[in-house]
This record gives sequence, structure tokens and C-alpha cells, in this order.
Amino acid sequence: MTPCIFCKIGAGEMPVDAVVETDRALAFADMNPQAPVHLIVIPKAHYADVADAAQEEILLGHLLAVATRAAQEKGLSPGGYRIVANTGPDAGQSVPHLHLHVLGGRVMNWPPG
Ligand code: 5GP
Ligand code: ZN
Repeated sequence: MTPCIFCKIGAGEMPVDAVVETDRALAFADMNPQAPVHLIVIPKAHYADVADAAQEEILLGHLLAVATRAAQEKGLSPGGYRIVANTGPDAGQSVPHLHLHVLGGRVMNWPPG
């Protein structure tokens, strides 16, 4: 079985620039940033995407809370930021482990394309 890269990151087996860590989640810098601040928020447990975790309402809320804390930690609160969860191939999801993107530090376009 191919090892899941975000499972390895969540288990502390890969070095990342961590911003917020809890018992269930980790926020860290994206390795290919699309904005001045670009963070990834993952659950430490494996879910393929948001749909796969749809029954885990407390965990999904926790991920949003961690994303918000991470955005505040990086000083994004005054100007705002965007939280994105690409879900499935049409959305361009490339890593099949549930994650939120937190993007900020510049003005975002809408629609995102
Ligand atoms: P997706 O396209 O699945 O929504 O987003 C996956 C994101 O994870 C991409 O922005 C990509 O740059 C980031 N990413 C993939 N592998 C790694 C990694 O090993 N380390 C870090 N820090 N980011 C990663
Ligand atoms: Zn995983």
C-alpha cells in the first residue's frame, strides 16, 4: 500500500513547518505556496476527503477552529483569508487525505477557477 504523505506528516514522520498542533490535527506550511501565507490543516486520522469525514462533525469543526487559530498565528486576521477544501478530482484535489488550505497575505480572486 502506498504510504499516505499526510498520515506521515500527522504522525511526525516528515519534517514540516508546524503552526498549530492539537491532539487531533496539525496546521503546517504548504510546500508549494500559492499565496504569501499558505497553510494546510489535516486531521491526524486518515479520511480521504471532506465527504469521507461527513459523519465526523466534531472533527470537521475542530479543523475549522485550528485553521482559524493558524490564520491568527500568521497575522492574517485583519485583512482576512480564505479556507478551501478541494474535494475530488473536479476540484483538483491531489493528496487523498482530508485537508483544508488556509490562504492569505494577498487579495484573492473570485471565482477561484
Ligand atoms: P490539494 O491539491 O490536494 O488540494 O492540495 C495538496 C497540497 O498539499 C498542495 O498545495 C501541495 O503543495 C501540498 N503538499 C503536498 N505534499 C506536501 C508535503 O509533503 N509537504 C507539504 N508541506 N505540503 C505538501
Ligand atoms: Zn492519510
